[in-house]
Amino acid sequence: MAEWQRTHTCGDLTEAHIGQTATLNGWVLINRNFGNQIFVDVRDRYGLTQVVFEGDDADLYAAGDKLRREHCVSVIGVVRRRVKGKERTDIPTGQVELKATKLEVLNAAPPLPFSVTEFPDEELANEDLRLQYRYLDLRRRSLQNVLILRHKLNTVIREYMVAHQFLEIETPLLGKSTPEGARDYLVPSRVYNGEFYALPQSPQLYKQLMMVAGYDRYYQIARCLRDEDLRADRQPEFTQLDVEMSFVEQDDVIRIMEGLTADIFKQCLGVTIPTPLPRIGYADALLRYGSDKPDLRFGLEIQDIGDIAAESDFTVFKSVLAAGGVVRGINAKGAAATFSNSALKPGGELPKVVETYKAKGLAWMKFEGDKFTGSIEKFFPDAVKAKLKERLDVQPGDLVMFVADKESVAADSLGALRVYLGNKLGLIDPAKKTFAFAWVVDFPMFGYDEEEKRWVANHHPFTAPRDEDLASLETDPGKVRAKAYDLVCNGYEVGGGSIRIHRQDVQSRVFAMLGMAADDAKARFGFLLDALNSGAPPHGGIALGLDRWAMILSGTTNIRDVIAFPKNKQARDLMTGAPAVVEPRQLKDLGIKLG
Ligand code: ASP
Repeated sequence: MAEWQRTHTCGDLTEAHIGQTATLNGWVLINRNFGNQIFVDVRDRYGLTQVVFEGDDADLYAAGDKLRREHCVSVIGVVRRRVKGKERTDIPTGQVELKATKLEVLNAAPPLPFSVTEFPDEELANEDLRLQYRYLDLRRRSLQNVLILRHKLNTVIREYMVAHQFLEIETPLLGKSTPEGARDYLVPSRVYNGEFYALPQSPQLYKQLMMVAGYDRYYQIARCLRDEDLRADRQPEFTQLDVEMSFVEQDDVIRIMEGLTADIFKQCLGVTIPTPLPRIGYADALLRYGSDKPDLRFGLEIQDIGDIAAESDFTVFKSVLAAGGVVRGINAKGAAATFSNSALKPGGELPKVVETYKAKGLAWMKFEGDKFTGSIEKFFPDAVKAKLKERLDVQPGDLVMFVADKESVAADSLGALRVYLGNKLGLIDPAKKTFAFAWVVDFPMFGYDEEEKRWVANHHPFTAPRDEDLASLETDPGKVRAKAYDLVCNGYEVGGGSIRIHRQDVQSRVFAMLGMAADDAKARFGFLLDALNSGAPPHGGIALGLDRWAMILSGTTNIRDVIAFPKNKQARDLMTGAPAVVEPRQLKDLGIKLG
């Protein structure tokens, strides 16, 4: 071992080491010169130790004084107790310090573009700057903690999957397009100019083929790539725990994943997630929460009041109902005083929330003293008011709000209003670390794309319809329910999967329903159709979005915090400069001419 190499990490030294000689390797977090003493905090992944340089060795003292932030150093010294009153209780090494006897600067660093100290109240530098120097940003303790937690997440997953007989199997990155509803990233072939590989949107078809091949239980911590517009919780490449099982029904997949969920939260956070998790039907979720990924940390449920609205004299409600729309309401309990009448006026704080989701307006009434108030109150005869009061459980001080529109608009806009109110009224306490999991089940198999005038798969085209609905596949596609299930937590979709079609005839019918002609289906998915006709077992699976899991576990709302080298919001890697132009020769090899 070379003399400079560490005997301990920066997180090791405690009172038990007092009097011993130790060598530490790490980075200078900060240095403070007090005239006769220089204190240097040396940091590594494991912790932080205070090193002291004193005047008894003038050369060493001078060398200590030259240290600057983020110099990489080796320090040899003697462990001693800190001066009384200078102990730190927030770190394990806080009782001791290392009195330096030798210093070696392993590598110096120029002044940094930003600080990595993370003092309380210290503002972070601009994110693009931090992404440009990501290797420095990653030195921040909070980011290190997140990535360490993410490692723990992967470890717990692997242990659980192995204990349940799953095989970890890798699938190709260069393949053929698997439709998950997004745009593909394409890779041009040099050998076959004009032909392209598609990077996987998921390993979906490969994992199904592993079931056909008899591997029975498969998993992979898989990278998936989707060329979509980025959002706070979306990156062009992301990681899924991808799972597939043979000879299973929906309940079997759900049970395995509930066990894993409980294990992850117990081992990563020490939190107990009671299982079985609640299940909620898709239609019910849309009605009550206005979303198929409801945040169940708080109530504020949406109610249909169409039947009551029909008895009112309010023409806005009545004409929407006559046109086949719905009238739904939400009772913001105790919020009458929180929102002034001007916050409720068209263009005001709350109407703005629903207008973003295309609602034409927000009708409202307050219940003050013993009566409803507000401009639409006069359209509701007493008997109708009494029904409204009962349906929405209205008490003095409550604010009730309504959206009348077509069903999807009413659901989306009231769903957004519900979440807005949940935050605004303090119904979600981030400090409490509540994790409200649920399964959303009974999804419709297809949705109708108004623009393209055709049916589209709600999950992906390999999802099985419910057996009892199979007969109406062609005759009443809107009514067909899928054997699909999503796992949601705190308003995020954290997983989704389905039982798959395992019979060729059914798969062909579904392709046809999606507007794929038989020869087109054969050209794109002939290999799957052949495989399904080769003794394919009943099978199903799921994928969990691990980036979102890491976000929830670490309490961040920024997906870039849980990925070591993320792209920025404009899909650029600011550190390496990708995407970048390439040599003309490379384009020539690929047969590509830029237009
Ligand atoms: N492949 C699906 C997805 O990526 C998940 C699944 O059905 O297993 O969303």
